[in-house]
Amino acid sequence: MTAIPTSTARITCLCGAISEPGSKLVQQTFPIKEELCHCNPCRQTTGALAPAFANFKVHPTQETLDKCDVYESSTKVRRSVPPDCTLFCKTCGTKVFVAISNDQGQIDHYSALAGCIERNPQQVKEGDQWTKDVIEVMHHAFLSDTNDGGLAGHLLKVDGNTPKFYETDDENAELSISVVEAMIAKSRAVPTPPIDAQLTAECRCGGVDLRILRADFAERDKDIKEHYSYPIDKYVAGLCACRSCRLHFGTSLVPWAYIPVGNLNVASTGRKVVFGHAALEPGSNPGTTLKHSETSKGVIRSWCGSCGASVFFWSAERKGREEVVDISVGIIRAESGVMAREWLEWRDLLSYDHEGTDQALVRQVKQSIEAEAKE
Ligand SMILES: [Zn+2]
Ligand SMILES: [Zn+2]
Ligand SMILES: [Zn+2]
Ligand SMILES: [Zn+2]
Repeated sequence: MTAIPTSTARITCLCGAISEPGSKLVQQTFPIKEELCHCNPCRQTTGALAPAFANFKVHPTQETLDKCDVYESSTKVRRSVPPDCTLFCKTCGTKVFVAISNDQGQIDHYSALAGCIERNPQQVKEGDQWTKDVIEVMHHAFLSDTNDGGLAGHLLKVDGNTPKFYETDDENAELSISVVEAMIAKSRAVPTPPIDAQLTAECRCGGVDLRILRADFAERDKDIKEHYSYPIDKYVAGLCACRSCRLHFGTSLVPWAYIPVGNLNVASTGRKVVFGHAALEPGSNPGTTLKHSETSKGVIRSWCGSCGASVFFWSAERKGREEVVDISVGIIRAESGVMAREWLEWRDLLSYDHEGTDQALVRQVKQSIEAEAKE
C-alpha cells in the first residue's frame, strides 16, 4: 500500500469551529513518527496520560488562533524555552495546538495535538484508503515525571517493536525496559489509602483543584450500580478511544476514572461539584475555573477555562447511572504515580476501540490492560 499523504487530513476540534488543513503538517505522509510525552505539564494541561504532537510548518490562520483560549505555561514544556502555550477551543475546550518558542521568546512554530488529526471529509474520494495509525511511537519522553511508567507501562512494545524509554527528553537519558518494569512493580505495591484519605485532582494552573473521597462501596457508596463498584475500596478506571473524547483531549487514548458525583469536592470551598444541566449556569462551580459545555445532547464535558485541561464527562443517557461522573486521570495526583493504582482499579475497559485513530496503540494497550486486569 502506498503511503497516505497528510494533506488528506485536517486538524479539527470537537465543535468543528477550528479546521486547519493537513497540508500544514511538516511530515508529508502517515504515520507521523513522534514521541509520547509523559511530562507533568503535558498531562496536566490535557487531562490525558501522554499526548503526541505533530509539527506545523506554517502557522495556523489568525481566524483559527482567534477561536482559541491560550494558556501560557511558566514551566518548560517539551524541548523548548518558556513561555510555551497551550491553545484550546474557546467553545468546546478541545486542546488543538501548542506553541513552541525560540530563544528570543517568540513563537517559533505550532504543533498540533495528534488526536485532533483526522481524515478531511472534503478530501475523500470513493475507494480511498485512510491511515489506521496517525502516529507511530518512536519513544516515550519524561518517564521520570510518571513515577509508575504511566501509559508507557502498557506500551512496552508496539506492533512488535520496542520504543525507547527516556527519563527526560534527552536520548542520552535512556531507561532500560527493566527499569520501567520496576517502576510499575513499585507502584503496584503502594497500599490502598485509609478510608478517610482524599485524593487530589488538580489541573496544571490550579484553577480546578478538587478532592475525591476514597471509594467506599461497602457502606457510603453501596447503592451505586455494581459495574462501577468493584472492588469496594477503589474506583474503576478505563480508557476511551471514541472520537469525541479523542478530540476533546487531543489524544487518541483518553483515561477516565468513574466517581460517584457526591464524592467530589472543590478544595477551596469544600462544596460538592455541580454536574448536569445545572453546571451550564454561569458561576455554577464557584472557587473553580471550570467551563462546561453540552457537546452533544445530554453529554456535558468540562474543562479548565484557564489552562484547558479536560476534567469531566457527564451523561444523562446512562440509564440509571447518572450518579457517576468520569474524571480525567491526567489531572490526578497520586503518590504511586500517574496511574494512581492505589486509588483506581484499571479494568479491561477500552471503549470504542474501533473508532481509535492509532490502531497499533489501541491493540497493544488493550492487550496489556486485559493482562493486568486478570492478574
Ligand atoms: Zn471547538
Ligand atoms: Zn510534555
Ligand atoms: Zn469517549
Ligand atoms: Zn487549569
